[in-house]
Amino acid sequence: MPGTELFGAEERKEIDDVLSTGILFRYNHDALRNNHWKAKDFEAEVKKITNAKYAHAVSSGSTAIATALAASGIGAGDEVIVPPFTFMATIEAVLFVGALPVFAEIDETLCLSAEGIKKALSPKTKAVCLVHMCGGMADMDSLMKVINDHHLILVEDAGQAFAASYKGTYTGLFGKAGSYSFDFFKIATAGEGGVLVTNDEHTYKKADVYSDHGHDHIGSVRGMEQHPYLGFNYRISELHAAIGVAQTRRVPAIKEKNRHHKKIIQNLLSKTEGISFAKVADPDGDSATFLNLMLPNTEIAQRVVDEMKAAEVVGFDYWYKNMYHFINQWDHIKEMRTVSKLPVEVLGAPQDYKNLHLPKTQEVIGRLISFGIKYKWTEEDMKTLAEKISTCVIKATKTASA
Ligand SMILES: *Cc1c(COP(=O)(O)O)cnc(C)c1O
Repeated sequence: MPGTELFGAEERKEIDDVLSTGILFRYNHDALRNNHWKAKDFEAEVKKITNAKYAHAVSSGSTAIATALAASGIGAGDEVIVPPFTFMATIEAVLFVGALPVFAEIDETLCLSAEGIKKALSPKTKAVCLVHMCGGMADMDSLMKVINDHHLILVEDAGQAFAASYKGTYTGLFGKAGSYSFDFFKIATAGEGGVLVTNDEHTYKKADVYSDHGHDHIGSVRGMEQHPYLGFNYRISELHAAIGVAQTRRVPAIKEKNRHHKKIIQNLLSKTEGISFAKVADPDGDSATFLNLMLPNTEIAQRVVDEMKAAEVVGFDYWYKNMYHFINQWDHIKEMRTVSKLPVEVLGAPQDYKNLHLPKTQEVIGRLISFGIKYKWTEEDMKTLAEKISTCVIKATKTASA
């Protein structure tokens, strides 16, 4: 979470602007706000980085992906291909817009693969909700071929991949709409916040209306605006947007530093037998928020985790056991334990979620251990960490072969 390492005068200035007028609402109140429009500024900063034609800030990455799906026309009964490795929010968003998730295989990019999507296709498949995981990106050339060949709608959850790109195009901009998260754990934070991006004007307008009770935001009398569609409240506050502005301005510097640190630590670790790294489809576009280690197999990876716990190594995630990022622990989905009935329960799930066969995903996530890259790491910090990791891997490999 490099953004959180860097709060300072810039964030405070943006917040002070908002507090000086007291207008915490992103719309209207033109005469009172002293020309401070933080949500709009936040969107402008995101556009600057991603080259998106349109950006729309909302209350979270979760509401951004839900809005992206809805504005792309995905709703009740639509089959949507999703990955089994993602933050839960992706699946919740698909379910809550009324659509039916279909789980497909990922590969060493940690994202859905073209092969996986092909195998999960049915005559009812309407869309792919692709997730760019751990700061990297999917192998877009092969994915776009399948998506175009089968006339599917692509929506991208780039919650973890803001500022990452593939062959010059930023994540979130390959399909109809995409989303970024600015929660507390991402490359930059707004406290809570999300941004939807698209190059399509109609999709943008629908997102704008949908995320604010249908308001068309034309004119200056809020209660008299037209409401072309039904919507809901997914608005971001000016206070959150203000932090988002300052943090997003830091992202180019953060990314450069992340990439530098990732290179150093990968160089140090690559000398250790048994350590390899997750595939980055375009290394030049890596946002490098995570160092993603791949161990030879699940058993060794679990031993490495045990060794690291014993050696008090901190700052890593073993997603295979994570309750929120990996399907093996999503028993509430498998059992369909819902607070109130969802369309999937009425229409019937397209797959037996309890008995999915996803061997490639199991193998890849079983082998994966990720470290969050820190902006403020020193050369010494990285050397020490790499030595500790290497020692644990060497020990774990020995016990495994003994
Ligand atoms: C963080 C994250 C989200 C959710 O974002 P919030 O801002 O916490 O709602 C969605 N998808 C992915 C892949 C994420 O990592």
